[in-house]
Amino acid sequence: MGGVLVILEAIGTDLAAISRELLGKGRQLADTLGGPLAALAIGPTTSVAAQAGAFGADQVYTVQAPVLAQYTTDGYVAAAMAAVQTCNPALILAGSSFQMRDFGAALATDLNAGLVVDVTDLQVVDGALQATRPSHGGNVINTYRFAAGKPVVALVRKQSFPEATAQPDRSVPITELTISDLTPRTEVVSVVPKAGAVNLTDAAIIVTGGRGLGNKDNYYRLIPPLAEVLGGAYGASRAIVDDGWVPYEHQVGQTGKTVSPKLYIAAGVSGAIQHLAGMRTSRTIVAINKDPEAPIFRIATFGVVGDVNEILPLLTEEVKRRLN
Ligand code: FAD
Repeated sequence: MGGVLVILEAIGTDLAAISRELLGKGRQLADTLGGPLAALAIGPTTSVAAQAGAFGADQVYTVQAPVLAQYTTDGYVAAAMAAVQTCNPALILAGSSFQMRDFGAALATDLNAGLVVDVTDLQVVDGALQATRPSHGGNVINTYRFAAGKPVVALVRKQSFPEATAQPDRSVPITELTISDLTPRTEVVSVVPKAGAVNLTDAAIIVTGGRGLGNKDNYYRLIPPLAEVLGGAYGASRAIVDDGWVPYEHQVGQTGKTVSPKLYIAAGVSGAIQHLAGMRTSRTIVAINKDPEAPIFRIATFGVVGDVNEILPLLTEEVKRRLN
């Protein structure tokens, strides 16, 4: 036992950004642990198997079976168990999405392994794996230390680590593994894409509005246009979701989405602890608020004290001008 196994995710035919990030961190940890970096592509993600080699994996495993066409806990755990039995990793890395949390918990149970979700850092300290994860709305930072000798399943928050550098000429062995016949306890009957679905968690740029926008019309006049010119998504505080201005899928925070974009613009948002819980790990935070004492300024990278009604149109026009 000593290597690292990364569970791959795909977006269309491309390796998802989270997988490139995990391969980057996985490489570093595998070198420290003295084992190989392996990657596993399950079902439809096998189309990205070769890309994992180009992003640093030493060995890629694939598992294809009709039962893996759609995600089910049993199917994915069976596929992962086949890879784990082959490469015996000390650490299994996956993203901390809803689906991977379901999968990771079931896999850790079957392996009698340690599990940590929402990880923002991973290190090897004195030979033992140590994981960091925020809790209590980001006000408490927990450190988990795992005893050696048992594998660890760590589910990592997006954008916690830089992406691995691509080495397009690198080619590595791809080994197909098989799983025995399996009847999952759940069956996917159909998949219905939600109309107007918002992919806040994958957005690199998010512009969020809060009650400081004054009313629903102002929100739609000021927030989506800025998000659009920046090529990002738009979010909302719970206050304005509860008031019916914006649908729930836009809500950021403890009871909404946890996001970690490269740029998060919070306009007319006070920065309540429950809001910060969902966005404080964003790389760059820009806050616009007329109250210089607003808590959002305590975590902002850049702060603008002013009226959103004045600042946002100027900002949108300036971004448009610079992009043209
Ligand atoms: P406010 O707190 O009312 O802040 C409005 C801000 O706008 C103020 O700072 C004000 O100075 C500023 N402002 C006003 N006018 C202007 C102007 N013209 N220009 C510039 N600035 C202006 N909240 C979330 O967001 N997400 C969650 O997931 C969430 N979960 C929660 C879970 C629980 C269990 C609880 C109890 C609360 C939760 N909340 C959540 C609610 C949270 O506590 C706050 O009430 C909410 O975040 C406040 O939203 P807001 O910042 O838009 O509004």
